[in-house]
Amino acid sequence: MTNTTENLPVADPFVEEGGLPVIGHWIDGSLHASRSGRTAPVYDPALGRQTKEVALADESEIQTAIASAARAFPGWAGTSMAKRQAIVFRFREILNERKHELAEIITSEHGKVVSDAAGEVQRGLEVVELATGFPHLLKGDYSENVSTGIDVYSTKQPLGVVGIISPFNFPAMVPMWFFPIAIAAGNTVVLKPSEKDPSAAIWMAEVWKEAGLPDGVFNVLQGDKLAVDGLLTSPEVQSISFVGSTPIAQYIYETAARHGKRVQALGGAKNHMLVLPDADLDLVADQAINAGFGSAGERCMAISVVLAVEPVADELIEKITERIGKLRVGDGRREPDMGPLVTEQHRDKVASYIDIAAQDGATVVVDGRGIEVDGAADGFWLGPTLLDNVPTTSRAYTEEIFGPVLSVVRVDGFEEGVELINSGAFGNGTAIFTNDGGAARRFQNEIQVGMIGVNVPIPVPVAYYSFGGWKDSLFGDSKAYGIQGFDFFTRQKAITSRWLDPATHGGINLGFPKN
Ligand code: NAD
Repeated sequence: MTNTTENLPVADPFVEEGGLPVIGHWIDGSLHASRSGRTAPVYDPALGRQTKEVALADESEIQTAIASAARAFPGWAGTSMAKRQAIVFRFREILNERKHELAEIITSEHGKVVSDAAGEVQRGLEVVELATGFPHLLKGDYSENVSTGIDVYSTKQPLGVVGIISPFNFPAMVPMWFFPIAIAAGNTVVLKPSEKDPSAAIWMAEVWKEAGLPDGVFNVLQGDKLAVDGLLTSPEVQSISFVGSTPIAQYIYETAARHGKRVQALGGAKNHMLVLPDADLDLVADQAINAGFGSAGERCMAISVVLAVEPVADELIEKITERIGKLRVGDGRREPDMGPLVTEQHRDKVASYIDIAAQDGATVVVDGRGIEVDGAADGFWLGPTLLDNVPTTSRAYTEEIFGPVLSVVRVDGFEEGVELINSGAFGNGTAIFTNDGGAARRFQNEIQVGMIGVNVPIPVPVAYYSFGGWKDSLFGDSKAYGIQGFDFFTRQKAITSRWLDPATHGGINLGFPKN
C-alpha cells in the first residue's frame, strides 16, 4: 500500500458514526476520515457529556501523514521567502479576523471561559506575528577576507519534516508556539494534538489552506501513543517539539534522541509565589486568585503554591478567602470567572488531592467540592480550593495537581522560601512579591527556575523571548519560540569560499594559512 491519501476517504467535514461526529485527520490539504476503527471520546466539560469522537490513527495513517509532509518539503523549502512571508501574513490576518470562532471551539472541548480561550489565541497570534518577520531572523553572517581572498559566510536551512505533540490545556496556543516558526523557516509539519480537544488543530489547518499554504506543508494526525511513537521513530521526521506532563516529556526526549532527532520536550510544573512581608497584600491576593484559578488551574504557569513569609500568612489567607467567595464558576460560554475541568477523570484526580492534603495535616480553608455552578449538573466541576499549612512532604505539595487547588506554605524568611523552590523537581515558573528591589534582584539571581516574575504572577515571556523551564520542566537544550525557536527549526551551514584571481593565488603551501 502506498502512503498517499487515496486510501483514506475525504470527510465532510466530520464524519457521523453512531450519531456522534468523528474528528478525522488533516492530511495533504484536506480532512480525512480514519479507517483505523479506533476512537477516543471528546467531551463538552461544561455539559459533562460526550459530544464527539476523535480518530486514533493506525500505522498506515501515521505513515500517510508523514509521507505527505515529506513530499511537500522540497517544494516548500524552495519557495521564495517573499511568497512564504505573504502566506504567513495571510494566516495571521484570517486568524485575527476569525479568532472568536477558534475560542468557541476551544471552550466547547476544553471548558475554559471563552474570553480566556480568546486570550490563548492572542498569545499564539503573537508567535505568528514574530514568524512574519522570519526573513530577518534567518539571515546568515558574512565575513570578508578572513584569509587573503577567502570569505566565510553562514546560511540557515530548514530541517525537513518536523513533529509537534501538544497537550490538552492550550490546544491552539501551544501548537502555535512551534508551527508558525517551523513553517516560516521552510519545514513541513505533522501536528499530533491532544485527543481531549482535537478540533482546534483542524480549524487552524483550514485557515492555513485558505491562506494559500501548499497541501502537505501542515498536517494534523489525530491519535494516541501509537501516533506519538510513529513520529518518534520515523526516519523521515527530523525533530520533535513536545509539551505535556513530565513523565511523557522524559520518554519523548529519550526515545526521539535515540532515533537521532533534535528534541525539545517541555514538561510539568509546580510554580511557587514567594510573598515577602513588605508586599502589597491586596495585589498579592488578587494575583494569587488570577494565577491559581484562571483556566481552572490547568495552566503550566499557574501558581499552585503561595510561600507566605511570616507574619503575613493569616492576613493573606483572609484576603484570598474573601476573593474566592466572589468567584463565579460555570459554563465558559456564559463568561463566569472559572469553567469546569477537562474530564471527569481529571476532576476526580484533582479533587483527591484535597483529601491527601487533609490526611497529611493541612487545613482545608475552602473546599471546592460540591460548589454551586452556573451550568449543567453533570459538568466536570470543582470550585476554587484553598489549603493552608500544607506539609512539604505531602504529595499535595510535591506533585503537580493541575487544577484549582492553591496551597499555602508558611516560611520564616526569604532564604527558606528560596531553598524550598530550589529543592523542588520542577523549574518552570516562579514569582516574588515584594517592594524590596534588592531582595527581588537576589531572587532572580539565585532561583533555579526558567521563567521569573517580579510582582508578576504568570511570567510567560512575550514571543520575541523564549519560553521554557529548567530541571524536570524541560528536557533538551532549546526553549520554545523566540530566537531559540528559529535556531531549533533550522540547521546552519558555514561556507568558506575562494574565487581565484591572479592577485590571490597562494601557490602550494601544506601548512595552515597565516595571512
Ligand atoms: P500529557 O503528557 O498527558 O499529554 C501530552 C501529549 O502526549 C498528548 O498529545 C498525548 O496524546 C500524548 N501522550 C500521552 N500519553 C502518552 C504516552 N504514554 N506516550 C506517548 N504520548 C503520550 O499531558 P496533558 O495532560 O495533555 O497536559 C497537561 C500537562 O502538560 C501538565 O503536566 C502541564 O504542566 C503540561 N504542560 C506544560 C507546559 C510547559 O510549557 N512546560 C505547557 C502546557 C502544559
